[in-house]
Amino acid sequence: MTDNDNPAFGAALQPFMGIPSFMRLPVTRDLTGVDVAILGVPYDSATSNRGGARLGPRKIREMSMMIWGYNSTLNVRPTERLKVVDYGDVSIIPTSILHTMEAISATASEIIEQGTTLISLGGDHSIALPLLRSHAKKFGPLSVVHIDAHIDTWEAEFAAIPYSHGTPFRYALQEGLIRKDAYIQVGIRGPVSNEKDYAEALELGARMITIHEVMEKGIPAVLAEIHARVKGPLYISLDIDAADPAYAPGTGTPEVGGMSSYQLLSLVRGLRGLDIVGCDLVEVSPPFDHGDITSILASNLTFEYLSLLALKKE
Ligand code: MN
Ligand code: MN
Repeated sequence: MTDNDNPAFGAALQPFMGIPSFMRLPVTRDLTGVDVAILGVPYDSATSNRGGARLGPRKIREMSMMIWGYNSTLNVRPTERLKVVDYGDVSIIPTSILHTMEAISATASEIIEQGTTLISLGGDHSIALPLLRSHAKKFGPLSVVHIDAHIDTWEAEFAAIPYSHGTPFRYALQEGLIRKDAYIQVGIRGPVSNEKDYAEALELGARMITIHEVMEKGIPAVLAEIHARVKGPLYISLDIDAADPAYAPGTGTPEVGGMSSYQLLSLVRGLRGLDIVGCDLVEVSPPFDHGDITSILASNLTFEYLSLLALKKE
């Protein structure tokens, strides 16, 4: 696709004009020849604190109008190498996590079984479990880079139901969707956990790179370890609260002392060269945002995903 084919990449339409699909890419469910599909998953009923992430996909799409298509750091124009479409949203059911998880798995499988790589925009982090189920079904047990302030390997928060946005990786590990030797958490911090929570995450198999370790060693050392550990197909799950609330206030469970926008961008860019088979970006809650900065960061991180997939195709 050239600038002329898509006005979003040129000057014919300003960011505030037109209909905001992601980067103004075609909205279609016809995946013939499509390399990558962007999928919204506007579900936030599994949050334990503040809601609003159901409004994330739409706002991220709106903010993506400012992305013109060339990644100057990675020197790639993803939509030139890849056919990318906006697949729209999963038909979630706000009052039923079980029905919603089934709908997410079904829609994700519908896409990836056709050979199209999926980038999912949440929504709260509970959506990662059905997404991992679909990806593991196609690719086998996955290496996972989980970027987050929180471990999300808790046991059921609410007795009646095991699933919430704090539990997806526990069940993904227990269901064998994730390789225990290649599950890496990055950015973990905050006062919401205790020693037992952290010990449990480690017992489940996590290599936990805390925010302290990130800041002490720096992003290049973290990336070196990720590249050494990851084997085979890699799934990336990114909770926007990994960023410091100064950079991403629009999220349900903010934790002080996180990564800057630049550190987060560098971390994602540094995953270049790995066999990325799927990605999600979750927990953007526009009602708590200021000046849309969280959604702008999220749309740019999504563009980095696209750039990595474009380089993979090279
Ligand atoms: Mn989190
Ligand atoms: Mn999370």
